Amino acid sequence: MATSKLTIVVPAYNEEEVLTSSVQKLLAVEDQIAAQAVLGQRADILIVDDGSKDHTWEIIENLHAANSRIRGLRFSRNFGHQSALIAGMSEAVKTADMIVTIDADLQDDPDKIVDMVDAYADGADIVYGVRNNRETDSWFKRTTAQGYYKVLKLLGVELVPNHADFRLMSKRAVETFLQYPERNIFIRGLIPKLGFKTAEVFYKRTPRMAGESKYPLKKMLAFAWDGITSLTIAPVRFILILGTLSCLLAVGMVVYAIVMTMLGLTVHGWSALMVSLWFVGGIQMISLGVIGEYIGKLTTEVKHRPRYTVQTILD
Ligand code: UDP
Ligand code: MG
Repeated sequence: MATSKLTIVVPAYNEEEVLTSSVQKLLAVEDQIAAQAVLGQRADILIVDDGSKDHTWEIIENLHAANSRIRGLRFSRNFGHQSALIAGMSEAVKTADMIVTIDADLQDDPDKIVDMVDAYADGADIVYGVRNNRETDSWFKRTTAQGYYKVLKLLGVELVPNHADFRLMSKRAVETFLQYPERNIFIRGLIPKLGFKTAEVFYKRTPRMAGESKYPLKKMLAFAWDGITSLTIAPVRFILILGTLSCLLAVGMVVYAIVMTMLGLTVHGWSALMVSLWFVGGIQMISLGVIGEYIGKLTTEVKHRPRYTVQTILD
């Protein structure tokens, strides 16, 4: 136990502005952990270059040449943040006993890795980094994020609130996680399903040091939709309920029309007819769309294509 090894996995996509200073900081944190001599005397950093188009890979090569504790893995193209995390964990778990994932911009407080390792030493297999502030987010991001997590909860998906992908996992937790073979993956939604002893470490999220967010709105929306469709089929069930309610309403309308006719009264309602026509038509289209989305996801899952392609490993 006293010689457990720590690997910090850092996904990086076009991070030339921050990578060097981030890595220096992470090395210092690892040295601090080693100095405390509780655990993790052996520690390294694995940077996953997610098909960057800037000088990220050259920086990784230089860092690796200067210090063998810095390892690199390069994708053949951009596969996305979640794939980069999975690749990093798969590679790191070969030698590490505990694996921390943290964004390259260090918006998540790297000093808290020390507390995470302490929690691991106390027996936790999964240590969640949990934000206790959201002031650094824009109003838009804060509101949409909170709304989104409420919707997920409504759909029956349990997440750790205010936790993203800053966490520590033990070797066995990572190995269990890697047994989940799905391609459409929302990692933070799967980890709570693993079980094991968990702990939380609270931290304050800071703004990005340099560079800009690698998550433009379009990517964010796709990620949010993946989160729902990969974790729950509640939307399809919701359609079923909506359809049933719509049928019940129709039966009521029929009864109403018959009664009115028997009483010798005409049922007026061209507008009502048009409105319901368009309304029901709309619901049908949306329903088909939602079902179509799930079938689409099914198609990509069935193909079993690789999650990512590794071009180079610097070990
Ligand atoms: N990232 C990645 N692939 C992508 C987009 C982002 O590996 O396609 C990495 C990025 O380099 C960073 C992390 O994912 O380390 C989170 O991205 P970012 O900080 O831009 O997201 P934000 O903090 O704005 O949500
Ligand atoms: Mg960031």
